[in-house]
Amino acid sequence: MDPVEHDRIIAACKKAGVVGAGGGGFPTHVKLSAQVGLIIGNGAECDLLVRKDQELMAIESKAIVHGLKLAVLATGSAGGVIALKKKYTQARTALEREMAGSSGLRLFELKDFYPAGDEQTMVYEVTGAVVPEAGFPLDCGVVVQNVETLLNIAKAVEGIPVTDKYVNVIGEVAAPGTWKVPLGTTFRDMLELAGGARRGTVLIEGGAMMGKLAAGEDPVTKTTASILVLPEQNPAIRGRRDTMRVITRRGASTCLQCFRCTDMCPRYLLGHALEPHKIIRAVSLGGKDMAPLGALLCCLCGLCTYYACPVGLHPARVNEAVRDQLLAAGARYPGKCTEANPAIGYRRIPSKRLSYRLGLHAYDVPAPYRGEATPSPTLTLLLKQHIGQPSVPSVHIGEQVHRSQVIAEAAAKGLGVPLHAPSDGMVQAVTPTAIVLEVRG
Ligand code: SF4
Ligand code: SF4
Repeated sequence: MDPVEHDRIIAACKKAGVVGAGGGGFPTHVKLSAQVGLIIGNGAECDLLVRKDQELMAIESKAIVHGLKLAVLATGSAGGVIALKKKYTQARTALEREMAGSSGLRLFELKDFYPAGDEQTMVYEVTGAVVPEAGFPLDCGVVVQNVETLLNIAKAVEGIPVTDKYVNVIGEVAAPGTWKVPLGTTFRDMLELAGGARRGTVLIEGGAMMGKLAAGEDPVTKTTASILVLPEQNPAIRGRRDTMRVITRRGASTCLQCFRCTDMCPRYLLGHALEPHKIIRAVSLGGKDMAPLGALLCCLCGLCTYYACPVGLHPARVNEAVRDQLLAAGARYPGKCTEANPAIGYRRIPSKRLSYRLGLHAYDVPAPYRGEATPSPTLTLLLKQHIGQPSVPSVHIGEQVHRSQVIAEAAAKGLGVPLHAPSDGMVQAVTPTAIVLEVRG
């Protein structure tokens, strides 16, 4: 590893506020500080109906490959891989062209199954190594970076901070598409770009499986990838509004202990001690079972809930609640190395089958890139758009700011990154959670 290049790239990422753009939000300068053997650019676009990465790889292939080279340089890796689904033909062609002649760089084609983009599943698919229980890809000498993060690394080294986000809008809208928008744009404004949402629909930030219910006033952050509009009655909405009391009572009275949720769990298939059927049993019936600790190993992919369970229970939400309680109580999982289940290759769930099961096939359409959106009159910039401590405002109400100016510094202690103005404008409000910017046209 060249220490000068390492320091230069890390410093540039920190200054530019680069964080994991695929949903994780982990500060990139910290991730790239490690010395590893392989960088994997994650272009698999894990969740159902998320489209922005395949669009981005087709239009920004040059910068993405450059970002991959920089990540390889920063970490002293032997090479870099971009893992994407075989069906992303345009993206594949564009990336192949940019990688031609670059030694140590290659593409890895994934089959179209869910959750192919889960970090641990991806490490297994690309390298054959199993990330230990409660571990990270780093434990296998790998760093995984979303492809938009790679793009932002390339920009950071040119001195360009993160002020925009690529986001797709899909589902019950007139014109599904992908746009580049300033951070702080509301979901409502994004829906307008797509011709508006139909009546009787709900918004989900993210994909159909792992996304969260959202509202029109929510702002785009550094981790927003997709806005999905679905009818209230869609099976993917099932159980999202139920209370934990309802979910656990239903589990106690209805669970067949059929084992299907465990059988199809991607983490169980990696050999991890995560057995959702036992967690449901322990939570519903009580007792001194050790199974609930396994909730700490759950990636909340939702496969147990939206595909496996024959009686409509919600093991994923039970796991989430158990995990939150355990973490609040300071519990840690005593992880160990495992071997993948020999049946793993036969239990992959094709995305298309899952899409039909959830009544989503009608929305399984392209969301082509439609360009850069004009900023909304006001932008709401959350101070916490990343894992770690919120950024600390460095501007005051009434202050004029210019595009790319730092408006909030990284917290002095703990993980953090600065926040930059996406546009020229005036600071309209500074609250404990956000800076509101009035955009100057
Ligand atoms: S959500 Fe369900 S299927 Fe997914 S990792 Fe957790 S227990 Fe396994
Ligand atoms: S799949 Fe459903 S019914 Fe079967 S064990 Fe799991 S939660 Fe219970």
